[in-house]
Amino acid sequence: MTDTPTDDPFADDGALDGDAMAAARGLDAADPLAHYRERFVGVTPSTAAATPPVPGDLAVPEPVRAYFDGNSLGRPTIASVERLQRFVIDAWGGRLIRGWDEEWMELPFRIGDDLAATTLGAAAGQVFIGDSTTVLLYKLARAAVDSLPQRSEIVLDTDNFPTDRYVLDGIARERGLHLVWIEADTEAGVTPEQVAAAVGPRTALVVLSHVAYRSGFLADARAITRIVHDAGALVLWDLCHSAGSVPVELDAWGVDLAVGCTYKYLNGGPGSPAFGYVNARLQSRLVQPIQGWMGVRDVFLMGPEYQPADGLRRFLSGTPPIVGMLALQDTVAMIRECGIQAIRDKSVALTEFAVRLAETWLAPLGVALASPRDPERRGGHITLNHPAMREVTARLWERDVIPDYRDPGGLRIGLSPLSTSFEEVAVGLAAVRDVLGELIHE
Ligand SMILES: *Cc1c(COP(=O)(O)O)cnc(C)c1O
Repeated sequence: MTDTPTDDPFADDGALDGDAMAAARGLDAADPLAHYRERFVGVTPSTAAATPPVPGDLAVPEPVRAYFDGNSLGRPTIASVERLQRFVIDAWGGRLIRGWDEEWMELPFRIGDDLAATTLGAAAGQVFIGDSTTVLLYKLARAAVDSLPQRSEIVLDTDNFPTDRYVLDGIARERGLHLVWIEADTEAGVTPEQVAAAVGPRTALVVLSHVAYRSGFLADARAITRIVHDAGALVLWDLCHSAGSVPVELDAWGVDLAVGCTYKYLNGGPGSPAFGYVNARLQSRLVQPIQGWMGVRDVFLMGPEYQPADGLRRFLSGTPPIVGMLALQDTVAMIRECGIQAIRDKSVALTEFAVRLAETWLAPLGVALASPRDPERRGGHITLNHPAMREVTARLWERDVIPDYRDPGGLRIGLSPLSTSFEEVAVGLAAVRDVLGELIHE
């Protein structure tokens, strides 16, 4: 199932019993990334170390028993505590407005290049940190359709994240375009065959998620990008649930445009700004619609007209959210250290362990896996369906076990590879089993 050198605790009889915790601890002991967990604030102490300290004399909150939402809001790193404190005191407090010339004007591009190299498979000069994912989706999708004015259709799928569907609906109305919907299987995702059937000479743009936010389905981005290009259209990949957990090869796949969150697996903090990718071959052809002063050729010329900068800077609009893009750098540094493939290997091992526990403990209670069974087609989270999951989620939160709930009946288990242990997976899923059992018998 993975390159991680672990023994499969299920190999003998395919069933788990009271030894599940021992099996989980065995997987943790053999996990080459296990020590990264201690670099996060507020994790449960492992057998190896006490709750990690944070800099200064700040009290650390009581750890939750299992956190299954690192794919929705990643945990903070201890390095980020220090980085944010230092920034306020030294950079903001000490350098004051000189900070813009010295560092901040270029920071969206410098962090973008680091992210590109470590996690996105993109050469320098193509990734920037910008606005929210929603706003970047709007800017890049509008720029894309405006560059192909003779084409009239945008292809998207019925199960994409709401913001993606809403933004494209707005653009279609604004520009008089038609939306072409692919009916996505909510327990899987969009296939190359479905895309091939949806695109044609009228297609301007195709927008899809690489990892589906509900099922965790991992789309074949390389094959789909080729199909879109054969139709003469552009593709925009939403990488919100892939960046930092699944290897991405934007340049090798020939992708045109991409956006993604930094507060999920990249641990940038609530509302940290999104990244955008614009392939170098397109940058001078695309003009984005929010024409602000920070995107022009000579920012301090303060000229009478909007003259977009030649390269990536033209995709900025206003003053970049510098404070918001500080913390994600600490996760990018960890990814550089251990490599995205090692993270993917652990991610597969974590979701595989969760699936096996669910099959053993939860399937007898009527729970169904609503995610791909094949790890090759699965990202970093799984969804477990049962009609009682809304109530189960509420009761789990009261017991400091934190998954999230997605209609209809989906308990979403997000397993952030650097901060989640196998023991945490076993503790959390045992709690799901107990709570669901109680509800069924009430
Ligand atoms: C989380 C997520 C978003 C979030 O967009 P924001 O503008 O950051 O709120 C967008 N798309 C997908 C697929 C997501 O998973």
